Amino acid sequence: MSSTVQACGIYARISSDDGTALGVGRQIEDCTKEAKRRGWPLSEVFTDNDVSATKAKRRPEYERLLAAIESGAVDALVVYDVDRLTRTPAELERFIDLADRHHVALASVGGEVDLATPQGRLTARIKGSVARHEVEQMSRRLKRKFQQNATEGKAHGVTPFGYRRERIIDDQGRDAGYREVIDPAQADAIRELYRMVIAGETLRSIAKYLNDAGFKTGRGNAFAGNVVGNMLRRPRYAGHRTHEKQIVSKGDWEPIVSQDTYDQALAILSTPGRRHSRGLEPKYLLSGIALCGRPGCGAALRPNIHKPRPDGKQRGPGYACPECMKLTRQMGPVDSVVNDFMVGYLTKFDLRSTAGESPTALGSALDARDAVLARMDTVADSFARGEVTARQMVRINEQLQAQLTTAERDIQRLQPTRILEGLTGPGAPAAWAATSIERKRTIIRSLMKITILPSGPGVRFSEDQVRIEPKEEIM
Ligand SMILES: [Zn+2]
Repeated sequence: MSSTVQACGIYARISSDDGTALGVGRQIEDCTKEAKRRGWPLSEVFTDNDVSATKAKRRPEYERLLAAIESGAVDALVVYDVDRLTRTPAELERFIDLADRHHVALASVGGEVDLATPQGRLTARIKGSVARHEVEQMSRRLKRKFQQNATEGKAHGVTPFGYRRERIIDDQGRDAGYREVIDPAQADAIRELYRMVIAGETLRSIAKYLNDAGFKTGRGNAFAGNVVGNMLRRPRYAGHRTHEKQIVSKGDWEPIVSQDTYDQALAILSTPGRRHSRGLEPKYLLSGIALCGRPGCGAALRPNIHKPRPDGKQRGPGYACPECMKLTRQMGPVDSVVNDFMVGYLTKFDLRSTAGESPTALGSALDARDAVLARMDTVADSFARGEVTARQMVRINEQLQAQLTTAERDIQRLQPTRILEGLTGPGAPAAWAATSIERKRTIIRSLMKITILPSGPGVRFSEDQVRIEPKEEIM
């Protein structure tokens, strides 16, 4: 439990009923040491003075502590000993229930009080060992309850983004804990985040989306990419309850995304290398663009990344047909034929002022399509490295293909010549060379149909194996 503590509270109480008159300053000091020793970041100190205690007397700071536990502002607590925290067995029971619901870690100093008299020391030792025993009992009970709650699918811990807490009032009007219900605005955002992951967007851009929309973390901070990644990996959004990182039951809360969506996103989030890469920008000029020229095929080619051979030599990347599996070409020569053609074409291109009906819509359609293609590239790479099974790849690609078709249709409809601004005329060779691979892909795809023609065995690569046909609608 202690490894995940983020905000430790200390509760101290002055009391006249224990005979030790232990100073509150001393309690706090020792509790602080104990928190430090355990590596728990100290967040708040709660101090009550109930010297004139009667059992009914309110303890405002104790109540504030309970509220802090409820809101998740405090997830660990150090007390001098248990009798500082609770005054009656019934109160102790209620506290255990609360700590149970909120997964609060507990520690006590143990009452090692430096008293002046041997008698005092003895009292303190007995008291201390009793207190330690109580804390250990509490810990054991809590652990058992966590397990039980987990098996029963009950929510625990800080309410996750996407949900909010709703009080349960029993039929006698008493507080009966809480349940987690969907927060509609946050849940919509969560669904959008999963969509973005599946579309291949970077965690950084996904975090930016959340921040731009004005959302904050539970602690009121801006979202960072790794935080969002960890959040979306949580099976609870698909309705699963986990205990010690294992799915143990179906949660008693409403899922926000389907199992299918969660699986897809998780496959992507678990792709090694993703965390450190700049994201999922397309890496290859013509993957998903160039078509297989074998009669009757016509499938879009995918990158073909070769595994290193035992002799250490590495073949360069190629394009390969995923359908007929009979056409492959080295990437380098094919790309250079297409680049040369594009430069020649753009140099002569007369850019007419045909701004699209909706540049924003066009922009987002282009983005959507590139994201899908980038995703396809990444999946192909993962497959080549053996990190994704063929079945997973096919499944992910099927879904991506549907998104691709939609984006393509939108682009078709939304006029493509805008994207050529600054790239035509005499400056075309330099401008093209300086253009990002994403934009090159967009342009090539919008303007050209590229087909790789089959060649017989042993036939060397030649330019005429790459057929480039300008698409009619923009001529
Ligand atoms: Zn083919």
